[in-house]
Amino acid sequence: MPGIIFDIKPFAIHDGPGIRTTVFLKGCPLRCLWCHNPESWHPEPESAGKSIILDGREFRESETIGREVTVQEVMAEIRKERIIMEESGGGITFSGGEPLMQPGFLAELLEAAWLEGFHTAVDTSGHAPKSDFERILPYTSLFLYDIKIMDDPLHTAGTGVSNQLALENFSWLIHQGKPVRIRIPLVRNITATRENINAILGFLSPHVRQIGQIDLLPYHRNGIHKYRKLGLVCQMPPRDDTPEPEEIEEIGQIFRDAGFRIKKGG
Ligand code: SF4
Repeated sequence: MPGIIFDIKPFAIHDGPGIRTTVFLKGCPLRCLWCHNPESWHPEPESAGKSIILDGREFRESETIGREVTVQEVMAEIRKERIIMEESGGGITFSGGEPLMQPGFLAELLEAAWLEGFHTAVDTSGHAPKSDFERILPYTSLFLYDIKIMDDPLHTAGTGVSNQLALENFSWLIHQGKPVRIRIPLVRNITATRENINAILGFLSPHVRQIGQIDLLPYHRNGIHKYRKLGLVCQMPPRDDTPEPEEIEEIGQIFRDAGFRIKKGG
């Protein structure tokens, strides 16, 4: 089954253990205000453009974001980095967007990678039918699971969707015996509030042994130019909403005190 991806990045060091190749699948049902990958949202290939004014003349450049690929084409790319993945204890991460927006393609990719002995990780918002999680479970070595905002109306305001599905899936997944690493985006006034951090802590604390590590992902605005290129309205919070290192350390310490391992920056 072919699928749509928008990037394959070798030498990734923030998407799970070791050195990894990250495959970015296109399509996401969320619209997080802080998203730096808006090119992932639309499930199909799309054109993006930019114009440069030089000496009063406008030059336009356009590109297509996303391409249709087969499982075998993706595997051929992945195999190129096999040695470095194995030597570093790394593997392959399927990210997005939300990779479970293409459940059949993702399941085939995972199975192919698993059968070739790769360590596989799925980076997910959790917002997908449980049956899709069941389908990929046997071929996934590690889940990278986003927990963003515990208050449901605030989650809807910040991401465009309710958190109910993601929280229910988490509660199921954590009992399936697979490692689950949590990822929390830190945006001041949105996710990095004391109330939200305490609520996340209360939700995760009973599962400290299964989770082990939490990745804290400080907000950045590196993707802001992509909104212009895609003709999208940018609602990214202001630069000031990146928490200071001391605030991140303080949040990290709250989770450390509860027994979690913390990694800053993924
Ligand atoms: S889940 Fe990730 S890719 Fe989707 S909108 Fe949120 S930050 Fe962007």
